[in-house]
Amino acid sequence: MQIEFLGATREVTGSCFLLRVGNLQVLVECGLIQGGRKQELKNADPFPFEPGEIDAVVLTHAHLDHSGRLPLLIKRGYTGPVYTHKATADLCAIMLEDAGYLNEKEAQWENKKRERKGIELVEALYTQDEAREAHKHFEGLDYGITQEILPGVKVTLRDAGHILGSAIVELQLTEGEHSRKVVFSGDLGHKGAPILCDPEVIEQADLVVMESTYGDRLHRGWDETWQEMGDIISSAKSGKGNILIPAFTVGRTQELLYLFKRNFDAWHIGDWEVFLDSPMGIEATEVYASHSRVYDERAKQLYETDGNPFDLPNLHMSRETQDSMNINQLKSGAIIIAGSGMCTGGRIKHHFKYNIWREQAHVMIVGFQARGTLGRSLVDGAQNIRLWGETMQVKAQIHTVGGLSAHADQQGLLDWYGHFANRPRVVLVHGEEEAMEVLAGRLRNDLGADVMLAEFQQKLVLSP
Ligand SMILES: [Zn+2]
Repeated sequence: MQIEFLGATREVTGSCFLLRVGNLQVLVECGLIQGGRKQELKNADPFPFEPGEIDAVVLTHAHLDHSGRLPLLIKRGYTGPVYTHKATADLCAIMLEDAGYLNEKEAQWENKKRERKGIELVEALYTQDEAREAHKHFEGLDYGITQEILPGVKVTLRDAGHILGSAIVELQLTEGEHSRKVVFSGDLGHKGAPILCDPEVIEQADLVVMESTYGDRLHRGWDETWQEMGDIISSAKSGKGNILIPAFTVGRTQELLYLFKRNFDAWHIGDWEVFLDSPMGIEATEVYASHSRVYDERAKQLYETDGNPFDLPNLHMSRETQDSMNINQLKSGAIIIAGSGMCTGGRIKHHFKYNIWREQAHVMIVGFQARGTLGRSLVDGAQNIRLWGETMQVKAQIHTVGGLSAHADQQGLLDWYGHFANRPRVVLVHGEEEAMEVLAGRLRNDLGADVMLAEFQQKLVLSP
């Protein structure tokens, strides 16, 4: 029995782990490598295994850095099922199809240039149709139910509280006389986050494969964050300008709508018209609304008393381009939620064009902004930005709300691991080197853990 680390090793994307149990092979995650063109070209490389020889795939959650190469795996010969939570299956239907659409667009754009140069054309990583095909392989599970997916391989999903449907994967593996339990944390949620339950804790394992995204950081408290958001909205006053919120379409967008509903009176949301200007955000919100069974107690209560917790009396869904363009007429009184989350594309840029140079306007940054993105330059205080070749002055007030995170912070990770009473060996993945080293130090010193930082293609024997 062994595990091989094939992605998210000393980096945060491209999660992929291969387990060999007897003559069976189980793949956990098949994520997209993200972060710059050169890195992303690696997605098209051959898999370091034969896709047709994999017997089962298990997926923790829908984010593309965990799920985004599944259609490619299937295109290259994998024929078996993809086991994951039911809500993850629903979210993947939207997200993988969108990824397929973007792949096609990118290949078309690249090929136009290549044609002019007279060099060989490229093929889309996978198409929208191939993503739809991949979705037929998904088998939705519930949390807490143990299922034997192959002889000697049992899987149980536990709620990870990171995004809807996100799971910690428990694998009980048996090979001859030997039995081992391997736990994959997936991405662990931030305790106390809106809508979702806190990450479930587990008390025993033989090996833990744990994420470490925020292994060196602590988040701001929730109450402070709610106060901060309420203050920004109240101070913006609806008659003066618009509030633009760039947001990731899955997770953050639903959190915003939910928080607006929960604080409808306290934050004077009724004074505004709220626009969800994102077709994919609208679809993802529908999926969130259809899985109330996995909400936390507070969200369940809101659902029971007030119905759909993402619906507001003054919410407008903008599906068509024309709906989005109509918002441009509004000079004040609009709260506009639009993608992309880091302002690198999507409809938010159009709203910037109409608002960013106006001092009455506000931009509320509610998510992580990577270096080199337009969102990051706003956070860093840029005086001017360039949109479609035009320079615009930044007069709008830029607010950064730092406390909303879908990931556990250092303390959250330590607490979660601390529940394993037998202190199993822990392999850190899904983190930048620095964050991993800091977390590894705390795990060793505070909890006496045997910690390993995974290397790419490193193999670890689980039993003789
Ligand atoms: Zn994630």
